[in-house]
Amino acid sequence: MSEIRKHYFLSEYCIIAEERAKRPSDFANAAEDSGKSSPASCSFCGGAEESTPLATAVYKNGKIFADTPEKRIRNWDFRCFPNLYPALSPVLYPSGHQEVGLEAEPGYGFHEVVVESPLHGRRLENFSDLELSGLMRVYRDRSCNYIIREQIRYVSLFKNSGKAAGASIDHPHSQLLALPFCPPPLERELKTIRENEKCPYCAILDREKTSPRFIFENSECIAFAPYFSIGPFEVWILPRKHLSFLGDCNEKTLFALGDILRAVLRSYGRVFGNLPFNHMFYQLYETPEYHLNLRLLPRFSINAGFELNTGTYINTVSPERAASYLREERMPGK
Ligand SMILES: [Zn+2]
Ligand SMILES: [Zn+2]
Repeated sequence: MSEIRKHYFLSEYCIIAEERAKRPSDFANAAEDSGKSSPASCSFCGGAEESTPLATAVYKNGKIFADTPEKRIRNWDFRCFPNLYPALSPVLYPSGHQEVGLEAEPGYGFHEVVVESPLHGRRLENFSDLELSGLMRVYRDRSCNYIIREQIRYVSLFKNSGKAAGASIDHPHSQLLALPFCPPPLERELKTIRENEKCPYCAILDREKTSPRFIFENSECIAFAPYFSIGPFEVWILPRKHLSFLGDCNEKTLFALGDILRAVLRSYGRVFGNLPFNHMFYQLYETPEYHLNLRLLPRFSINAGFELNTGTYINTVSPERAASYLREERMPGK
């Protein structure tokens, strides 16, 4: 199974997960558009429940169920199950690799798939309000479900959309990885936040709501192209309230987050058509200093040598220009 290896001398980690190389898409990599799956062969579609691991949470008409070996739940709205090729596993295997002077932990954790719709071609930007609030509740529930597990320190919740953004199946889905460590970038961020008197994110919110980088707002959230954008058309979404974790969000805030996410995706669609992107939640549990945020990054190019070498990104579109394109379409009802 996988293992979590620590850097030679820094508090940074990588996960060695050779099992994941068995994913079908990895073998078919050279074939054009091999990442695309058709509904006929798609294991995430409604009706194909047998072709995935047993679902841990199935959302149906506002209620939550779980599959049993005897019975798979049908006609669901959202379906969550362990990744068939997990990077981390809830079973504690001894580490495979031991070397004097180097540190490795077993690859303990959870890796879950959140299928956002039983319909293959359904896209988040076209979700109804009902679907949207349902999905945001799933995001909240699953984050809460894993963060309280023993040894879990961080829940990474994200979506890869499009092959260039890392999606191997094109059925709408998100993923969740529950980690036994806090990611070093978040640790560094938190250290700096604690050195400030006021929350830097609250300060960013105050600044960006009237800046040339502003894109959208609703009663609970704002969306803007950050001054420090690591790629073209990067967008950050911040709740106005200082909240640290999805579990701290009430229904209104949760829906507003989804609503503004949908608006940004619609803008991406209007400007670019179907573009590959990632969206990622940044959240810390029981860490009141932190300010929950959601970031979107279109994937126009892969990181090249300079970025990997320096951790410094070259962005060919200013956030001010990006915002001017994205905000043209107003939010529904505005
Ligand atoms: Zn499908
Ligand atoms: Zn704040």
